[in-house]
Amino acid sequence: ATPTSIMAGSGRAAELGILFKGGEHLETTHKINTILLDKTGTITKGKPELTDVMPESLEESTLLSLVASAEKNSEHPLAEAIVAGAADRGIICKDTNDFEAIPGFGVRAQIDGQDVIVGTTKLMERYQVEVSEHASEQKTQLETAGKTVMLAAVDGNYAGFVAVADTVKETSKAAILRLKQLGIDVYMITGDNERTAKAIAEQVGIDHVRAEVLPEGKAAEVEKLQKEGKIVAMVGDGINDAPALAKADIGIAIGTGTDIAMEAADVTIMRGDLQSIPDAIRMSKKTMTNIR
Ligand code: ADP
Ligand code: MG
Repeated sequence: ATPTSIMAGSGRAAELGILFKGGEHLETTHKINTILLDKTGTITKGKPELTDVMPESLEESTLLSLVASAEKNSEHPLAEAIVAGAADRGIICKDTNDFEAIPGFGVRAQIDGQDVIVGTTKLMERYQVEVSEHASEQKTQLETAGKTVMLAAVDGNYAGFVAVADTVKETSKAAILRLKQLGIDVYMITGDNERTAKAIAEQVGIDHVRAEVLPEGKAAEVEKLQKEGKIVAMVGDGINDAPALAKADIGIAIGTGTDIAMEAADVTIMRGDLQSIPDAIRMSKKTMTNIR
């Protein structure tokens, strides 16, 4: 493409809230045939809300107080949902020591001399916590409904769980349909569990789901598809998406997400509306045909 047509194309894209970092990305975007979409904050609004508190042997308020206290030092959207939900219910957080974030798994902290962990089934396995059978069944049910369940243990004993729900952005489903109509394979890639991921994928019409992917695994998944000969776009908003955004042929950051994601990406869609992706592909095609 000529510099003039690229300038014009970039300008038109910018008017639609699609910021290309360089002209070469506007030239290559139309070549992508595979798109990986992060779930939380990309397909969904990324503003989860606390919906369920299910204690095992202690009071509901005691469980929520311990869980919220452990989470108050975390910047994860799930942690923010739990802390806000606890505050809404009049729960006062306790002081903590030795806070530790375990990316992709959860958190750990000392509260009143007790060791509290909150997170995934894998986190419970790592600390040899046995989750009761009825709790596991309830967890499965909530996950099948698209909620994210976080298990809690105190001093190595299972204590209960909390669940949060995130809502899908209004335009995600229509945007994904447009991408599929352009002949692009659409994948969801998430650290969340398989059942929750599949429930959300079904709501937006995604058939390929890569769930329980650890933060370092997202970039590996991009590389795997590239080795199969695919031209891959990655779309994400989080710190844990940055390596995959950098690795992809085209990295697309959500403008409402973290700065680190935008720095790693080639394109930023300012409004966070996934419709901007098929729009960007159309702009790219147009720029390339104008010059031939
Ligand atoms: P995502 O791809 O959705 O951003 P992450 O890799 O950040 O997911 O996290 C994967 C899973 O690890 C979450 O779905 C959650 O179950 C658990 N997890 C992560 N951070 C926390 C936290 N602060 N508290 C509890 N659980 C967490
Ligand atoms: Mg995200």
